Amino acid sequence: MTTEEKIRQLREELNHHNYLYYVLDKPEISDYDFDMKLKELQELEEQYPEYEDPNSPTRRVGGAVTKSFETVVHQYRMYSLSNSYSQEELEDWEKRVKKLVDGKLQYVCELKYDGASISLTYENGKLKRAVTRGDGFQGDDVTNNIKTIRSIPLKLKGDYPEKFDIRGEIILPYEGFAKMNAERVEAGEEPYANPRNTASGSLKLQDSAEVARRPLDCLLYSIVTEKIPAKTHFETLEKARSWGFKVPAEAELKDNIGEVLDYINYWDIHRHDLPYETDGVVVKVNDLHQQDELGYTAKSPRWAIAYKFKAEQEATKLKKITYQVGRTGAITPVANLEPVQLAGTIVKRASLHNADQIAKLDIREGDTVFVEKGGEIIPKIVGVDFTKRDPDTPETKYAENCPECGTELIRKEGEAQHYCPNYNGCPPQIIGRIQHYISRKAMDIEGLGGETVALLVNANLIENYADLYTLKKEDILPLERMAEKSAENLINGIEKSKEIPFERTLFALGIRYVGETVAKKLAKHYKSIDALMAASEEDLLAIDEIGESIARSVREFFSSEENREIIRRLKDYGVQLEIDAELLANHTDKLAGNTFVISGVFEKVSRNELKKMIEENGGKVSGSISGKTDYLVAGENMGPSKLAKAEKLGTNIISEDEFLKMLS
Ligand code: AMP
Ligand code: ZN
Repeated sequence: MTTEEKIRQLREELNHHNYLYYVLDKPEISDYDFDMKLKELQELEEQYPEYEDPNSPTRRVGGAVTKSFETVVHQYRMYSLSNSYSQEELEDWEKRVKKLVDGKLQYVCELKYDGASISLTYENGKLKRAVTRGDGFQGDDVTNNIKTIRSIPLKLKGDYPEKFDIRGEIILPYEGFAKMNAERVEAGEEPYANPRNTASGSLKLQDSAEVARRPLDCLLYSIVTEKIPAKTHFETLEKARSWGFKVPAEAELKDNIGEVLDYINYWDIHRHDLPYETDGVVVKVNDLHQQDELGYTAKSPRWAIAYKFKAEQEATKLKKITYQVGRTGAITPVANLEPVQLAGTIVKRASLHNADQIAKLDIREGDTVFVEKGGEIIPKIVGVDFTKRDPDTPETKYAENCPECGTELIRKEGEAQHYCPNYNGCPPQIIGRIQHYISRKAMDIEGLGGETVALLVNANLIENYADLYTLKKEDILPLERMAEKSAENLINGIEKSKEIPFERTLFALGIRYVGETVAKKLAKHYKSIDALMAASEEDLLAIDEIGESIARSVREFFSSEENREIIRRLKDYGVQLEIDAELLANHTDKLAGNTFVISGVFEKVSRNELKKMIEENGGKVSGSISGKTDYLVAGENMGPSKLAKAEKLGTNIISEDEFLKMLS
């Protein structure tokens, strides 16, 4: 077998196993075997870049960064759907349809998946482009991000048309959403509000590798092309399924509105058993010819209508309002409810958001309130049943003091949230900050968990994260459930955190509004904590994407004498508070403004090293040669097509040695 054949075979196998796993949910090989095959393909592609393919399964891991998304005009407009909420409205729709077409009518009922709509263009069986709905006429090209979604076929099988668009919904199943949020909470970040917004936000992320890490899925529901190879909508769904698309099996054919209503009533209850969110049923005229006759209004097809499920709502009694203190001191009011069954779970608590929300709804203890569960994981209170209120019920007076430490709460101008300002003395803030410091995306201290942090604080062994570095095995052994071995692991884990690079240490400090990305930006700009501490608010504001609240929060953090003392101590213990000097020494901007393509095999340095060197010296690496390529670094066994293209475009072709000379 030639290398080319081997590569092709691996791609086919991997595509097939992807399909079995992500579309059919019936894997035939272990994850390990899959990873091995993927690795083998990756290595071959690295070694033989002349066989590169933008639709290779290796592209699923992402990596391409899109700075700004290109606007693309939809060849076929993406319409909305008209909505209905009752049996009468559905029957009215049927009457209108019957006036406009002759013959027997059949309907396809599908679930209305709640996510972000997408239009995929395929040419010759290959995914060409993916575009968001936008305003229906034009959307954003998000192809790089979409390619990371494993259930979307990059290559089709069967008797697909040469060119067509297929529409679907990008969704985030509950389970993956919950997992993502658990990780965010662990890292001290705000959890995402609901799966729909998170799915839709994911499409517009600049870094496709980040998209690849999100467990997104895509459910397809409509083919649009000049010549559809079918007579009915239901057949097109079956066709799409046969070409490798994920088309949910819940779609059903119905002969009349009565049957449609049965379908709706069934799914109104059973939708809670589905792994993803739905917000209604879409009813479509099955016959494509009849669809044509019916056509479109200014906004939506006449041949389809959505039936929206009512948001699940229950009335229950609000027993008490309590207040929670977060690690930044932010106060969240919580409604403690008489337990009530809602959307398949028992609800006992709901968030009340902030003081304004309570005032707006005039919520009082003892009220009967309406609780709703939309896409949000945490149910919310949407209103009060005033007819049930005892006239003597006093108005809610928002907490004035911190429930944990008694300090008077403050509320800054223009902010919705109240805060406990007792930064260094309020237990949940102290514990929360240290928990954030040790979390996975921050210092990633192995052997130390959130509960142990609470134990350590409560035993007065630590008061802040700098104290972690003074801990001795003897101190912690007496703690509950602390064995010799785990004590040792804990001390080792703390010791190892001294190797964590500056940008992550900066994130770990838990400065309000300084998340991972901002921390990276600040570390790169200032290079050391000393420089950052010396920066004025104006200095900070001059940096791209650093706004007023971040700048103010950074200034505030470093103007506290207590924080400065903690930083001094961290420095003494050897925690990384500046960018590694060695790393810095290798960085120049010698190659700034130049784009390189690397091809072939090299003698002195590996392809990865080459890539790193280019990037560290300000250059850009691209996968394929175009008019924008400045240099082609050519190694042994370079692909003939690449060479020809470079020659044709007049690209500078340089050897490994010539490249190294550019840097010396
Ligand atoms: P709306 O956004 O309320 O106008 O509803 C129209 C949207 O519903 C479409 O743009 C699709 O993204 C979405 N949708 C979800 N499931 C389906 C489905 N089975 N058929 C058609 N559209 C659907
Ligand atoms: Zn407090």
